[in-house]
Amino acid sequence: MKVLTNHIGGEAVPPSTNAWLDDHDPATGQVAARVPRSGEADVNAAVAAARASLAGPWGGWSTAERADLMDEVADRIEQRLEDFAHAETEDTGKPLHTSKTLDIPRSVANFRFFAGAVRHSETAFHEMANGAFNYTLRRPLGVVALITPWNLPLYLLSWKVAPAMATGNAVVAKPSELTPQTASMLAEVLAEVGAPAGSFNLVHGNGPEVGGPLVSHRDVAGVSFTGGTATGALVAAAAAPKFKKLSLELGGKNPTLVFADADREAALNGAVRAGFTNTGQICLCGSRLLVERSIHDDFVDELVARVEALPQGDPMDEATRVGALVSEAHRDKVEGYVRLAREEGGTIRCGGVRPRLGGRLEGGWFLRPTVVTGLAPACRTATEEIFGPVVTVHPFDTEEEALAIANGVRYGLSASLWTQNLARAHRVAAALEVGMVWVNTWLMRDLRVPFGGLKDSGVGREGGKYSLSFYTDDKNVCIS
Ligand code: NAD
Repeated sequence: MKVLTNHIGGEAVPPSTNAWLDDHDPATGQVAARVPRSGEADVNAAVAAARASLAGPWGGWSTAERADLMDEVADRIEQRLEDFAHAETEDTGKPLHTSKTLDIPRSVANFRFFAGAVRHSETAFHEMANGAFNYTLRRPLGVVALITPWNLPLYLLSWKVAPAMATGNAVVAKPSELTPQTASMLAEVLAEVGAPAGSFNLVHGNGPEVGGPLVSHRDVAGVSFTGGTATGALVAAAAAPKFKKLSLELGGKNPTLVFADADREAALNGAVRAGFTNTGQICLCGSRLLVERSIHDDFVDELVARVEALPQGDPMDEATRVGALVSEAHRDKVEGYVRLAREEGGTIRCGGVRPRLGGRLEGGWFLRPTVVTGLAPACRTATEEIFGPVVTVHPFDTEEEALAIANGVRYGLSASLWTQNLARAHRVAAALEVGMVWVNTWLMRDLRVPFGGLKDSGVGREGGKYSLSFYTDDKNVCIS
């Protein structure tokens, strides 16, 4: 049995509470590791260690030194890609194929990207008519709290740690209690490559018990949070009275819009990928599929055939493309939405049931990929975030109707739209109330572009210069 520790001030330490949580393998339902159930004292120790590192050696590191460190982290994770991928799959139930081709390579890319980004970043210079001039100094915020969810554990943690440390902040990270392993491995890697004690601290535990005190700690200057919208509201309420800098990346209920003039084969592939990658557990997943009525019936028939053919099974099997849901409670929630879909008048075209998987997967938390038709676009199933392998399909007659359905939810994270009409692509992209639009593709990510949502999907943008800006404060100096 693996036993994880916190990492505080350069030491691997048990929780001060001496209390532990079980970390389960979703594919088997068995306990995979024990994880600290830390408390406020651990948070306080981590924040103190972070502050001390800024007053000590870490605070004196140059941009070039920090960038080199981030590159070394990337190299070390890449060398251990197999170990990281296995741990990620054991924690999340996602296919090993996904961990190896998406989660871990992207984590490596995040460290390399932000190493380059700080090396090449520039600050402003403003010359005045009277000969005076201004220049901008960019300074780290200080101690930053990074709180992450379970769906893309290392991918999302590295998306925050890399820019935060590259810009010179000291980090206190709080990963999801459901998927703690790769965060611990990252702490080991940072220690191996010589990150100064206290520059990166890791406190494991439950959200309210660790995340709560961390977000409201007076010495934490910034909070970057990725997770559910309801939790985001709690985080915002705790951080706002203390005027902390805040970035919130929250939930989504993203539309995939397929117009009759779309490349049918590409749109079908895109709709399946958007709906079911990571078992539908990506904030960007296209869980509402809007299809122009003239092609709707044929499109749905072909979609269902492809979804039924998705290979589901042991996540450790390299051929598996659909794994398990992250926890028993989460599968219960998703199954609850399948029941609700029936009550709301929907037809379950495929899935909606647990697959029959024997052997070591007998107690795993699996659900077949599910396609539902016949629901009103405004019903609960079609507007609330399910965050599982469930896609609802809705016909539309006009562009205006498609937009009204797409925008008719509280969320505004992303959308993908499929058409060969360039004018329509521009028009619809501009009118969608979301932070990110993909045209004739889905989840094609350039790390330089703004990432974030509108409405209840969050506040702020991360990525490229947006992350560098979030993790720093600009100070203007005017010289006469
Ligand atoms: P969650 O909100 O339950 O938990 C996220 C993190 O917050 C965890 O580490 C949790 O322990 C912590 N937490 C819980 N209560 C807290 C509190 N009171 N104070 C501080 N921290 C607390 O979310 P989840 O179930 O882990 O993840 C799924 C959600 O994340 C979905 O809604 C999904 O859409 C969203 N998500 C959004 C993005 C994005 O970029 N917009 C990316 C991935 C996931």
